[in-house]
Order: sequence, then C-alpha cells, then structure tokens
Amino acid sequence: DTVEIEDELAPARETLRRVFGFDGFRGRQSDVVSRTLAGRSTLAVMPTGAGKSLTYQLPAVMLDGCCVVVSPLIALMHDQLRAARANGIRAATLTSVDEDWRETIAAFRAGELDLLYVAPERASQPGFRDLLSSAPLALFAVDEAHCVSEWGHDFRPDYRQLRPLMDAFPAVPRLALTATADAQTRADVMAQLGIPEDGLVLAGFDRPNIRYAMRHRDNPVRQIAALMAEQPGPGIVYAPTRRKVEDLAEKLAAATGREVRAYHAGLDPAMRAANQQAFVASEDMVVVATIAFGMGIDKPDVRFVAHAGIPKSIEAYYQETGRAGRDGDPALTTMFWGAGDFATARQRLGELPTDRQASERARLDALAGLVETAECRRAVLLRHFGEDPPETCGNCDNCLERPGVTDVTQLARKLLSAVYRTGQSFGFGHVQKVLTGARDERVEQRGHDRLSVFGIVEDKEAGLLRPLSRALQARGALVATEHGGLALGGDAREIITGEKPVEIVVPPERERGGRRSRDS
Ligand code: ADP
Ligand code: ZN
Repeated sequence: DTVEIEDELAPARETLRRVFGFDGFRGRQSDVVSRTLAGRSTLAVMPTGAGKSLTYQLPAVMLDGCCVVVSPLIALMHDQLRAARANGIRAATLTSVDEDWRETIAAFRAGELDLLYVAPERASQPGFRDLLSSAPLALFAVDEAHCVSEWGHDFRPDYRQLRPLMDAFPAVPRLALTATADAQTRADVMAQLGIPEDGLVLAGFDRPNIRYAMRHRDNPVRQIAALMAEQPGPGIVYAPTRRKVEDLAEKLAAATGREVRAYHAGLDPAMRAANQQAFVASEDMVVVATIAFGMGIDKPDVRFVAHAGIPKSIEAYYQETGRAGRDGDPALTTMFWGAGDFATARQRLGELPTDRQASERARLDALAGLVETAECRRAVLLRHFGEDPPETCGNCDNCLERPGVTDVTQLARKLLSAVYRTGQSFGFGHVQKVLTGARDERVEQRGHDRLSVFGIVEDKEAGLLRPLSRALQARGALVATEHGGLALGGDAREIITGEKPVEIVVPPERERGGRRSRDS
C-alpha cells in the first residue's frame, strides 16, 4: 500500500533533495528508481525532458559500487559529466578523447566512482571486461537503448556487444533508457538486453503544450518567416542538407531581420559550439540546423520547431519537435513537407541492406500516415507509441480546423493508369497534360493523345490531381524514377483494380490560395 511505498522511497527522496536539489520525483521516475534500487532490470521509455538521467544517477549515488553508463555520443557524455560533477557526484568518462584515462581507471579500481560513462565501442574491448571485474558494480545503464534494435530508427551494431558484457555480471541490474520506442522496438530492446517482460516502465508521451501542425511546403522561406512572426522567441528549423541549412538561414535572416544562425556538421567545431552557446543564451535567436543539432542541449524555452523537410520517422519527429516547449509554455511545431521528400526517402530504401528495407519502409509509411491524416495528429502520434489517447486534443491543426476528406478513388485509378500507359517514365506535368487532354509537342510526338486515358479528367477534378499525386507519393503508390519520372509502386495495383479506395485530405481554404507549387 501507499504508506509502505512512501517508506521504501524515503531515503531516495532524501538523496533527491540533498544531492539533486529536487522536491520530488516527476512522472514515473519513482517507479524506475525503486525497481533499480531493488536490483531489478528495467526498460524506461520516457519522453525527452522527462528526466531519464536522474533515474540512474540517483541509484548510482545510493548503491555501493559503480554505475556504468553506456552512451552513444561523446559530447552528450561530457555534458552529463559536468552536470553530475556539479551535483558533487563522483563521475568520470572513459572515451577516446579523454586524456585522464589513467586517473579514471585508478579511481574505478579504488571504488571511488559513482558513475563511469563509456561509449558502446568499449563493450567489445576485452580489456574492459577485466577492468569491470576489478571493482564492485552497482548498475549498467544503457542510454539511447533503441540503438540496440534494428527496429529502432538508429541501429548501432556496437550495442549488440553489450549483452555478452552484461551477462558476464549476472548479479548487476540493468537499466535501459530511451525516449523513442514503439511497441515492436520496445519488445526487441528488452529481448536484446535481457530485461524481463515485467520490466517495462512506460511514461506518458503527451506534450500537451506543443501544438502540432503539418502543411504542404510551397515556399519555405515565406512559410517559416510567417511562423516566426506568429510565434516569437527562440526556434529551431530543421533542414535536410547542409546546403539547405545555409541557404535557409541566410534567406530567413534577410526576410525577417532576426538573428538566424546555421548549424551543421560541416561547420568548424568552434563555430558550431559558438552558435550553440549563443542559441542557448538567447531569447529570440533562430537556428537552422541539420538533425545533429539539439541532442543534449538543455534549452527549456524553445518556442517553435519547424521542419523544412520530412524527418526520418515518427520517432524522429517526436524527438525533434520535443525540443520545443520543455518549460511547459505553449510552443508551435510545424512540418512543411513535400512529396519529393517522400519520393527521395523511398528511393533511398533501395540502398539499404535488404533485411532492413521492410522496417524502414514501415517507418516511412507510418510517417506518411501522420502527414496525410485528417484526424487529430496527437491521437495518431500517441497511438503510435502504444497509448490510448482521446480522439481529439484541441491543440493540433486538424483539431483546430477540421480538414475535408474527399473520396478520390476514381481519380486515383485514372492517374495511376495514365502513369502506367505513358510508360512510367514521365513526370507529373506530362501525365497531367495527358489526363486533362492538353496537347503539346511531346504529348503528340509520343502519341499520348491517342491513349485511352487522354482527356479523361474533367476540369472540375483537375485541381485535385496534384494533391492526389502528393498523397500517392507519400504513401508509396507512386514512386520517383531516377530521371524524375513517376512509376507505380506499393499498393498501386490494388488501387487501379478498384480493390483499394483512396481518400485525400483537402486542406482548409486558407492554405490553398491557388498558388502554384514551387517546391513539391
Ligand atoms: P531526458 O534525458 O529524459 O531528456 P534529462 O535527464 O536531461 O531528461 O532531464 C531534463 C531536465 O529535467 C533536467 O534539467 C533535469 O535537471 C530536470 N529534472 C529531472 N528530474 C527532475 C525532478 N524530479 N524534478 C525537477 N526537475 C527534474
Ligand atoms: Zn488534435
């Protein structure tokens, strides 16, 4: 009963106050801490900002022996190290860039460390197991634990070496932590790391102060500048490539007169660090960045996150948007997506090893589903993470203004048939001309005006062709060819035969405006 639980955690609460200066546990931290103190292994799935680090740092302070923390990013480790030391915790890192490794090893052997941070590569080094045998261990903490699973969005083979290492110390409990794991990844992580089935602690993923919105991208500079005007304060804009990062940063600065900086792996480290520090300190700066930015930075007052291209997956989307509004105040997140983003991502699937293609395709399909839905975005998102949310949230674009849904099954059959009959090598513009009966030199040269699909789309429907083509590309029924043409893919055949109905979301009036797409 409650009283007993309170008693059980009283020493932990005392340490929480004394060492960390916090008044109480947040969310499900207490469940993770009490399991860990009792020597039971756990997978803690908690959103970014939930306070995962505390769930191993606190037991590390309380338990005898050292807690070994596996973490994939050296920069992140050093941030953690500084924070831990600032709280008076005896912590060290053992990485390729640490020059004080001799002191660290000596301190570990002498039993003078509460926390030892290492990179996953360390696990496969034979000497490391011997080192760990030389002093008592309290706990293995595995950060970013989804990296152990090929179902996760960020598989790292080195994580597979952790299991044999931990198995060599069967009495030491394990605590795996991640912010991003759907049901399948979760089960796999637990199996891979040897965590019992009852060891899952799943914290709520909802971030009610974040408003989710998605729009088709027709003019990213204008669209993001409008977002910046609507939502003052610091913001992050994610762009897919270094070139786009620099281009957008420059144009947004010019368009808004605000301070906008670029951040990507190609900048020299000093400049990167300077931009990051300036952002953390600033109250109105905008950073345009590749996804490298944001990991491990603790800036609670980010007021908006914009995507100028699609993220890799729903997990990545959740994590990236999750950097907004960590202080609990309202924050806007808008994804500006283009059909080309999905086309490119689907093309890249072919470059992956065959055994990974299916899972990556499923990931992309799930993302396309979120982009294409007319339902509450938050509900779709939370269901993806295994929760059972209310049907509507009142704080996403679809809840604030219900988009229309149109049955376009017949039109989709016509479009796909035309792609097929013209030989699956022409771009959208040509196929559109054929369907609407617009003659030009190329149409006539190829004899496409004699095809049965010539002119079968009436004017009143023609306006839906482009959004339909985007939707079909997003879901993979239309794929881009190497030369920029469209070809059939995914469930195109079922659509053509009429087995699969197709609906598309018709965006609210204000977004349409009849503008010609520049960037689809
Ligand atoms: P995560 O790793 O889950 O993204 P962090 O461990 O970085 O989250 O913690 C996020 C923030 O929450 C940090 O600033 C941390 O100091 C703070 N925090 C953690 N636990 C508590 C708590 N019990 N009470 C108040 N603040 C907390
Ligand atoms: Zn909603």
